Amino acid sequence: MRARFPALLLASLLPSVAAAAGAHYRLRYDAADASMAVTLCDDAAHATLRLVADDDAPRYVSGLARDGGAPVARGDGGWTARDWRAGECLRYRADLGRIAATQRPDVGWRRGDDLLAAPTLWLLQPQDADRADAEVTLPPGYALSVPWQPLPAQGGVQRYRIALTPLDWAAMAAVGRFREMPVTLPGGTLRVALLDGGTAAQRQALRAWLARVSQAVLDAYGRLPIPDVQVLVVPVSRRRGDDAVAFGQSTRGQGHALTLLVDPAAPPEAFARDWIAVHELSHLFHPYLGDEGRWLAEGLATYYQEVLRARAGLISAESAWQRLDAGFARGRADAHAGMPLAEVSERMMDLGAFMRVYWAGTAYWLDVDAALRRHSRGRLSVDVALARFRDCCLPSHRAWTPQAFVAKLDTLTGTDLFTRDYARFAGATAFPDLAPTYAALGLRTRTDGALRFGGDATAEALRTAIMAAPGSGNAASAAARQP
Ligand SMILES: [Zn+2]
Repeated sequence: MRARFPALLLASLLPSVAAAAGAHYRLRYDAADASMAVTLCDDAAHATLRLVADDDAPRYVSGLARDGGAPVARGDGGWTARDWRAGECLRYRADLGRIAATQRPDVGWRRGDDLLAAPTLWLLQPQDADRADAEVTLPPGYALSVPWQPLPAQGGVQRYRIALTPLDWAAMAAVGRFREMPVTLPGGTLRVALLDGGTAAQRQALRAWLARVSQAVLDAYGRLPIPDVQVLVVPVSRRRGDDAVAFGQSTRGQGHALTLLVDPAAPPEAFARDWIAVHELSHLFHPYLGDEGRWLAEGLATYYQEVLRARAGLISAESAWQRLDAGFARGRADAHAGMPLAEVSERMMDLGAFMRVYWAGTAYWLDVDAALRRHSRGRLSVDVALARFRDCCLPSHRAWTPQAFVAKLDTLTGTDLFTRDYARFAGATAFPDLAPTYAALGLRTRTDGALRFGGDATAEALRTAIMAAPGSGNAASAAARQP
């Protein structure tokens, strides 16, 4: 055993040694003309180094120059540099101001003095690299918000590790005079940036609110699923009734990020009512599952948006069940009957089939959660499966097929429930039949649409266990009442 120790020690050192080699960026932002001076160096020699970026990138990058003046050829889908010497660098200028001037949500826009620009439009990537490091220099008073993982600063220079994910995975970089506010939680940090200023009181209130809703996410299994998350908060004036949050999005390009369109002037009760932030945070529990797996991804976030808020006391358990039940009714009422869920999921945007996709997915997770808890007498749950998935497989910077994801959850819990239900739900041409699950939970929808709570002590215990935080007194007593 002793002889193996040095080998293990060496193995534990290897990742950081390996990470030091490869591509490095030096980025220097010039506020006067909203441009980024980019220096890209690669430690390895290449007969041909191919650099790729979004198709529109050539509009925004200029002045490409290699050390020693060797040429950089532009071709289909990128640039080519032949006879690249080890340690050689390429310099160019990226016009972030022009990207921001497009005012297109996934491309770039401006909020006051702060601008946003998708990094895939201005950061040329060595084609075969899966990650790179970056050093960033900003003018005094400026900040950068990116999905990249921060590394310890060196000599006052901020450093990051960039996951070079597929170019079609959305990512956004913001630069301006905002301040990044860290919300530190067990398991990770949310780096929150409120763009376009806001008052000091609004920033404080926003940070407190995000800390509170993030606490709800911890009620799944006690930790944030991802160690570092960029949170971009973009101020909007309220457009949807009295809601504080108008829109949310979770993205995975170059790292994990959430974007929330928020009215910072909304009253505290509007923030207390919000479900969007918990929904978006819940997307951190699963890997990217593609369009085919969208129903699985959205179903999980929708299920947890109610369950985790109930566990955190943001809504009552009764209200969470009612909201789930009302959602299932909306999913059932959505058209596109006769088409399998997996297909509706892939074509959701064209079909506008949001309700069917989101709520059939939610039905899947409720069904699996209830069955797991019953069959294991409270030992297993969706929370337990996802905690184990986090330990083995997150963060993930590659796509998982939905089939591989559910198969992994089965392996991690020693069951076949996830895969069996997956096949049943994905192929179903109508909204899933929840009658057996409702019976097990003691839930009944009356003809007038109201939800009735009943059933025996076992049903009540199962309901309580789902809506109570693991480890809380409620969950413990609920588990004790399981047969
Ligand atoms: Zn979602």
